[in-house]
Formats: sequence, C-alpha cells, structure tokens
Amino acid sequence: MGPLQDISELEHAAAALAEQKEFAENLVQNSAVPTFVINAERQVIIWNRACEELTGIKAELMLGKDEAWRGFYNNKRVVLAEIVIAGSLDQASACHPVFGKSNFIPEGLQAEGWYENMNGTDRYIIFNAAPIRNNRGDLLAVIETFEEVTERKHYEEQLEYQANHDRLTSLPNRNLLNDRIHQELLRSQRNLQQIAIIFIDLDNFKYINDSLGHDVGDELLKTIAERLRASVRASDTVARLGGDEFVIIISHQDVAEVAAILAGSIQSAITQPLKIKEHELVVTCSIGISISPRDGEDVQTLIRKADIAMYRAKEKGRNTFRFFTGEMNARYLARMTMERQLRRALERDELFLCYQPIVSLRSNRVTGMEALVRWQNPESELITPSDFIPLAEETGLIEPIGEWVLQTACTQNRAWQEAGLPFLPVSVNISAIQFRQKNFVSIVERVLRESGLDPRYLELEITESLVMQNIDRVTTILNELKEMGTSLSMDDFGTGYSSLNYLKRFPFNKLKIDQSFVKGITNDPDCAVIIKTVIAMAHSLRLKVIAEGVETAAQLNYLRLNNCDEMQGYYFSRPIKTTDFGRLLRENRQLPALNSQTDNGEWAILVVDDEPNVISSLQRMFSAEGYISLAASSAAEGFELLATNRIGVVICDLWMPVMNGSEFLELVKGLYPDVVRISLTGRADLFAITDAVNRGNVFKLLTKPWDDAFVLATVEEALAFHRTRCTRASKT
Ligand code: C2E
Ligand code: MG
Ligand code: MG
Repeated sequence: MGPLQDISELEHAAAALAEQKEFAENLVQNSAVPTFVINAERQVIIWNRACEELTGIKAELMLGKDEAWRGFYNNKRVVLAEIVIAGSLDQASACHPVFGKSNFIPEGLQAEGWYENMNGTDRYIIFNAAPIRNNRGDLLAVIETFEEVTERKHYEEQLEYQANHDRLTSLPNRNLLNDRIHQELLRSQRNLQQIAIIFIDLDNFKYINDSLGHDVGDELLKTIAERLRASVRASDTVARLGGDEFVIIISHQDVAEVAAILAGSIQSAITQPLKIKEHELVVTCSIGISISPRDGEDVQTLIRKADIAMYRAKEKGRNTFRFFTGEMNARYLARMTMERQLRRALERDELFLCYQPIVSLRSNRVTGMEALVRWQNPESELITPSDFIPLAEETGLIEPIGEWVLQTACTQNRAWQEAGLPFLPVSVNISAIQFRQKNFVSIVERVLRESGLDPRYLELEITESLVMQNIDRVTTILNELKEMGTSLSMDDFGTGYSSLNYLKRFPFNKLKIDQSFVKGITNDPDCAVIIKTVIAMAHSLRLKVIAEGVETAAQLNYLRLNNCDEMQGYYFSRPIKTTDFGRLLRENRQLPALNSQTDNGEWAILVVDDEPNVISSLQRMFSAEGYISLAASSAAEGFELLATNRIGVVICDLWMPVMNGSEFLELVKGLYPDVVRISLTGRADLFAITDAVNRGNVFKLLTKPWDDAFVLATVEEALAFHRTRCTRASKT
C-alpha cells in the first residue's frame, strides 16, 4: 500500500469522523429533549434549541462560557426547591452545572426541582447528567438532558393540597395538623420552647346549622376561619379539625401566658356580630388549651387533652376557655368508667323509675304522674338523670334506655289500673336523640300494644329546644303521635327560644313552665309577670298549664290565683318509688287547701319591720281597733305572707338588713300592684325617703316615734283606697 493511498485513507477516515461528529451534534441540536453539553472546563459546547426554548437564553450567549446555571436561575431568585434523586448531594454540588464548581464528575446524576427561568416562569424540571469519558477515563464532557414536568407536578401538588386542607375553609385539615404538631414538637425540643394546642369549638353551632340551614352554617364557618387566621401570626398554624372544631398551634417560651391572651382575643373576634344572608348572628366559642411538654409529648395526647379542657369550658357555661389540668383528666377517666358501666346498667337491671305526682289546682287531687329514671350503680351512690342522661345521649345509649323507660312506665301504669287504682296518665320524658330515631313512632306504638295501655294514658314530654331544632320533621312526628292517641306536653317551657305564638304550629296539649320561673314567682316581679302571661296566653291557645318545681305554699297560692291548671313539686311530693306511689294513690292524698289567716273576707294589714317591739306595739294598736294584722321581720317573710293571705296594706320599715324597705316595696309594687304601700322610718334620712317616694313606691310616709291617731287615720285611708282599687279591678 503506497503512501498516497495512505494519506487519502487517513483523509477519508478524518472526513468520516468529522461527518459523524457533525451528525452527532446535529442530532443533539435538533433533539426535542432540552440538552446541553459542557466540556471538562465546564464551558458550554452545545446548547440545543429545545434548551433555548426552555430557558429563554440563546445558544450564542452561552457557548464557551462556564455559566450554564444562568439558564435555570433567574438573577433575582434562586432555585425554589431541588431534590437530588440519584447520587448524593455532595456529588451533586460537585458536578452538576447548576450546583457546583468542582471538576469531580460521578457516574451520572439525577435531580429535580422548581426553577424560574429568564422568562420569569416557574417550571418543574428533572435533570439527568451523564459524563462522557475517553478510554483512559478522562472526562471529556458532561451531557445534560432535562424533562419538564410542570403540569404533572402542579396536578400532584393540587392532590397533595386537597389531602391536607379543608375544602370549605382552605385551612390545614387534621392530616396536616398532625404533621405540623409533630414538626413543632421536634423543633421545640431543639430550641427549648413550649407549644400550646388551642382547641376551639363553636357554641350552639348545631342549632344554627339545623335551624338556619347548611348554607348559613358553611358561610359562618368560613367567616370564623378568616377571623381565626387574622388572630394569629402568619407562622402559626390554624387548622380545621372537622365540623365546628378548630385548632391553633403556637410556640413560645412563655406559651401559657401567650395562649391565654390569644384565647381572649379569639373569643372577642368570634363574638363580633356577623351577617349571613338576612340573619344577624352572634356566635360564641369554648376553648381548651394543652401545653407541651407539661401535658404530653405526642400529637394525639395533646389534642385529646385540649379537647377535654374544651369540654370543661363548655360545662362552665360556654364562651370561656380552660387549660387542661390533671383534675380534668380524672373527670375524663371517670366519665369513661361511667360510660362503660352505663353500657351494662340495662342488662344488670340497675335502672329504675320513680314517679312524681301531678296535682290539679282545682280539685287538689292527683291527676297524673311523671316517670323519672334513676340509676343505682352498685359502685357509687344513686345517680340522677342529669348526671347520666347527657352521657347516654352522647353515646347513643339513650335509645335502649329510653325504650326501657317507656316500656316500664306503660307496663306499671297498666298494672295500677288493673289493681283498681284510678286511671291516670303517665308522663314520660323523651330525649331529642330518641326523637330523631327513624322508628320512634313505631316503638311507641309497639310498647303501647305490648303493655296493653290505652294511648290516652301516655303523655310524652318533649323539651322546648328539641321542638325548635327541626321544625318540619318534628311537627310530622308529633302529629303521628297525637293521631295515635297519646298526649303531648312541652317540658321546661321558657328555657328555650320559642315564643308562645310559635306553639300554635305544634299539636301540644300541655305546657310545663320551667322550675326556674316558679322559683322566682313570689319575690321576682319578672318571673311573676312571665308566669301570669304564659298562663293567660297558653289558655288562649287551649293548652293546659302545669308548673314544675313548686316548693312553697306561697308559690302554690300565686299559681292558684293566676289559674294555673296543675302543679308538680316537692311541696306536694318528691318523686317516689313505685310501691310508695301505689300507696299514695290508694290513700287518695290531696293537696291541702290554702292555709290562710285571712279567710273571712277581711283585708289585712301587713307590718314588716326587723324591730320586734315596733311590730308588737303596732299590732296591739291595730287589733284594739278591730283590724287584722300580720307581721314579718324580714322581706322574705313578707313575701311569704303576701302570697298566702289577703293583704290590703303593707307598712314597711325602710331600714332593714338583707333587703331594705325601699327595694321590698318596689317588688311588692310589681307583684301586687293593688296593695297599698306605706313606709315607716325612724331616721330622718331624706335620701331614703325621697327615693322611696320618687320611685312611686309609697302611698304615705310614717315616722318613728309615731302618733297613734295619725297612724290609724293613715291606715284607714289606705284600706279605703285599696277597696276602691279592688272594685275598679273587679269591674273591668
Ligand atoms: P324534668 O322533666 O323537668 O323533671 C323534673 C325534675 O325536677 C326532676 O328531676 C324532679 O325530681 C325535679 N323536681 C320536681 N319537683 C321539684 C321541686 O319542687 N324542686 C326541685 N328543686 N326539683 C323538683 P330529676 O328526676 O333529677 O330529672 C331531671 C331531668 O332529667 C328531667 O327534668 C328530665 O329532663 C330528665 N329525665 C328524667 N328522667 C328521664 C327519662 O326517663 N328520660 C329522659 N330522656 N330524660 C329524663
Ligand atoms: Mg319532664
Ligand atoms: Mg321540666
């Protein structure tokens, strides 16, 4: 082979090689995959079109420079997030054109992250770097390819967001909350801070949701979420746990103090009135707080304890906050124990019923009875319903318990009837939860059938708040029960939200005025007026009225005077056991007629003074003149006598301990407007006298020591005035 031939062969080979190189370069240049190549000095030797498009930088600006990273970092911003998938971070920072400046190149590298390019757009990019070496292993170049997966990443992030956020309020949900608490716990261990879990629950949200509709409820939750967000720093987490429960996490060196202040400001933020559609609402919330490390060092414990503290705040009257304490934990444990025991109470036969007589105020005879459940837990004292019915309601145990009560009461009533005792209706309390059972009406039907009790001897007591919760559904059920023949009574009237007018819509037969009003009738004009009005209005709606919790003769008399139909209360009988009730019926016990010292039709004078000698000399003088007089040494005694006697005139000392005369006379004016009021005072205290006169509380003033003739004349004048008032009243 000649040299010429050799040269041409070499030239050939070189030309072929150049062709191949050009071909390879073209291949890279035209590839749709964004790619660049750097040489061993990190200078860019290829920057393809797809790469120009992706980065917004033309090849001529890049070629020959060792600044490939410019394509991925905007000058203003650095990489948003970068994860090295293959190869270690050290390796990455060493070889990656975007990461490092060293010449060390590993056997390939993959990384991904958000990058902002020259056009200002954020992209999610996956990098692949592959070294190219010669046979000796020297690095010749690194070829870098990219995959842009921005859309897929957006979609993934959206999914992740949804999994971690509440749809309605966009707040972090329980998932993310757990995670955040976990993070905070780790951090707090490092920097020795404490963290507080603030558990917030709206008061009466269920009521708003049920009565105003879910749209209103949703809007309300959104507004509350905004208010909570606005109450804390941006770095604090506000999460929605579900329903109307929210949790805030804060960390601080004195976290208890900060949490208490925050709880206060949250409460005032939440109670700001708000308007949703046409509804003006004011909501309150109850807050419980737990603190780490004191109360626990794991997520679940901290949330549970904050929740327990929140419940305690609710028990304490709502719109307040509580820190978790060991005592609460004890209560919580006690509750858990009680729940366990209550589950077994039915099968172990630990429940029993007491009956409290209901008495007519016209005939003074027993006209019915209320069945009241009791629980004889062998491990504790007798438990009253207010201590276990709420628990039974929360745990759903109220359904079997309620059915047992219904069954037992009906069966017992039928047994009394068969034993020859008078046929009287038995009243059974129905819990709201029972009422929401789908088959409640058929349960009642079955119990009546099985016990053989005529439906008209069963009365169902339903509380006012229940009726107002879901008006349409409740009306339907009430009508079905009424149709079946049972009678219906609204319990605890006055404690809920309903107006009497509303009652027209429901098929009730009877209204039970709540004890709290009865308590005040003889000494609180507000209660007295309410009872009077309720009785009159209920009668106009053809409802019978029964007063609960009657404990004194004075209360009884006031109710009699105002035409209340029936009473129930300790004054006649406490709730008693089955056998005792049977005896009470057999003995035909009755309510005593009014025990009054003024039965003969004369109007009496009531003297109220804390000085016994004043009382005795006045009474002596009155009886010598043929007047009937009664005496009381305190305002309380005075009210008692006013309620049980025919009093025309009150003479009252303005200076008495506990309640002064002026206040007493003011109340008398409200309770008994016809009684003529005279004040008696020993001290020439101009202020007390003017006050009494100016308030319109007194008819005449008498001073101590008094002139007998003047007192007698004044009293005679007052009685005459009273008589004219009464005749006027009886004419109208
Ligand atoms: P309630 O239906 O308003 O029953 C009247 C309550 O007042 C009874 O309390 C009774 O003992 C009490 N009471 C009666 N007269 C007087 C009085 O003169 N003075 C005072 N201070 N209290 C009086 P109890 O038996 O503790 O029941 C409390 C509540 O528990 C009941 O209020 C009722 O709402 C509920 N409850 C009782 N038994 C049942 C039941 O079988 N099922 C359901 N769901 N609830 C029940
Ligand atoms: Mg009741
Ligand atoms: Mg009641």
